[in-house]
Amino acid sequence: MGRTRACEAPAIGIDLGTTYSCVAVWQNNRVEIIVNEQGNRTTPSCVAFSDVQDCLIGDAAKNQIAMNSSNTVFDAKRLIGKRFHDATVQKDMKVWPFKIAEGICGKPKIEVSDKGVKKLFAAEDISAMVLTKMKEVANAYLNADVKSAVITVPAYFDDLQRQATKDAAAAAGLDVLRLLNEPTAAAIAYRLDQKATNRGRPINVLIFDLGGGTFDVSLVTINKGTFEVKAVGGDTHLGGEDFDNQMVKYFVEEFNRKEGKDITTNPRALGRLRVACEKAKRILSSTTFTSIEVDCLHDGVDFSSKITRAKFEELNMDYFNNCMETVQRCMKDAQWDNNMVNEVVLVGGSTRIPKVQQMLQEYFDGKNLCKTINPDEAVAYGAAVLAANMSGKGNKMVKSLVLLDVIPLSLGHELLGQFMRVVIPKNTPIPITKEVIGVTIEDNQPSFRFKVYQGERSRSTDNILIGEFVLRNLPLAPKGVTKANIRYDVDADGILKVSAEEPLTGQKNHITITKDKRRLSKEETDKMLQDAKRYKADDEDYRKKRNAYIALDYYVYNLKTKLNDDNIRQRLSQEDIKKMDDVVQEAKEWLKTNTLAEIEAIVNKKKELDSKRRHGARTSSSSGGRPKKVVTINID
Ligand code: AMP
Repeated sequence: MGRTRACEAPAIGIDLGTTYSCVAVWQNNRVEIIVNEQGNRTTPSCVAFSDVQDCLIGDAAKNQIAMNSSNTVFDAKRLIGKRFHDATVQKDMKVWPFKIAEGICGKPKIEVSDKGVKKLFAAEDISAMVLTKMKEVANAYLNADVKSAVITVPAYFDDLQRQATKDAAAAAGLDVLRLLNEPTAAAIAYRLDQKATNRGRPINVLIFDLGGGTFDVSLVTINKGTFEVKAVGGDTHLGGEDFDNQMVKYFVEEFNRKEGKDITTNPRALGRLRVACEKAKRILSSTTFTSIEVDCLHDGVDFSSKITRAKFEELNMDYFNNCMETVQRCMKDAQWDNNMVNEVVLVGGSTRIPKVQQMLQEYFDGKNLCKTINPDEAVAYGAAVLAANMSGKGNKMVKSLVLLDVIPLSLGHELLGQFMRVVIPKNTPIPITKEVIGVTIEDNQPSFRFKVYQGERSRSTDNILIGEFVLRNLPLAPKGVTKANIRYDVDADGILKVSAEEPLTGQKNHITITKDKRRLSKEETDKMLQDAKRYKADDEDYRKKRNAYIALDYYVYNLKTKLNDDNIRQRLSQEDIKKMDDVVQEAKEWLKTNTLAEIEAIVNKKKELDSKRRHGARTSSSSGGRPKKVVTINID
């Protein structure tokens, strides 16, 4: 009989990394990093196909890479949400041992041979397999069926990459509670959110993330539950693998020189040497000297050598210097002085390298670095804390975690007269849903056009147009009668969906506007906010003008409606009806050509119409002779 799942599954945190992934859970009043079946706390993000067996995922896949390189897929995270012709994809393809083909709509597909059959996989298919593996690791550890997770992504991931990660999770049977930015996860792991709330003032954190294949620096300000990324920098192709390669090159030269052979023609030997070098590199993080032995490396020759930590550092000094230059650039971008950084957090296995730590510490004048949590586990750790928080679990500390993402600029659509109707004001925490009603502005209006803007100015055209769509086939009716229910949804990942529905016919349409499309640089956002301040008086004038215009528009419309009323028409002569119809027609024309009229002109026009309404329409006797009687068309 199969083992039954004993308890309700908690939500887990998964760091879906480029080279390794890690899974953690809140349990027994603490975060537990979950070990895989090999007893390892991280699992290679690697999937291998072969002619004889089912695909292998994780350690088993990585262990056979040297023998089966063209069918062993890694680095799927570099491909996720990308297009085949993207420069980064074209560059990466050249060094990967597996093939990439162009799929439908320019999607890159990974080509492998699975049990003798050629198969094409999207990056999210591979990520789904890695996530399935992480879920299984958690299931085995927890003796439960895990259903939901917080999954981390790099801060610079765009919406397509985020959506593709969500798709991968769905394919793995995981409900994503939240996609969490990796630097934010690391900051949560160190409870930096708590420090910020306790002190009541923002704290600035530098997250230095040096992993197997990527290097990321993020400067984050934490303030009352918001994690604002102030600057990011890094190198998508810098990490532990480069340090391994430097060591491989060093030993290849030594082997070739000593043995008079050329090992570079033997990929399998190079693969085995690389594995040995990675091991030596790790050892050099805790000792100053180590040896390396590979039996029967090439042409039946054994290889054995030694390397010091100092030599390793010398081989990689250019890389380490690059890292520090990136830190410097990021600090400049965020306009931070060294003394403004409250905490420096180490993330990624390669930050265990003593030289890297030393250089970083020196840059910050001997400041202590946050490194009590394993650097390759900190991101999963933070994700597990958020997963517990979002599912109502955890201790007081976990429960008090607030993670607010806010809308940086107001969102709304254009109304008559280029006026911005704000639906979601700036600084509203997300996720958020808001509904408003729109009405037709003309008789028999067949469609609504929605122009969606972001910004703080009263006039829509001073803001930023981020999308538009049309709701067609409206039931024909007098102005103001046909309505549309307009709904704004911003999900936890910042994706905005604006939808509109005409309730009588059920006609609907919508637009999805990704965060990417709305993303402005810090300078652009600041400029928008400064302009809103600078032009506050102008904007207020414009608002008043626009309200006066709308009031006049309704006045003219009501006048027209009354004139069409049979009861009123019966009391007017043909001549007066004609006269008033002309007045209305002329007013409508005036409105059309004066949408941007000054308030004075609008007020004068209203007075003129008022006077014509009161004195212009007189009953006239059909038989003649009797005095004419003034008939006032009541507008109110
Ligand atoms: P990550 O992508 O964060 O899982 O980091 C993986 C990288 O960290 C790999 O290149 C590992 O070789 C490297 N790494 C792990 N432990 C150590 C260590 N003790 N010293 C140096 N590098 C390490």
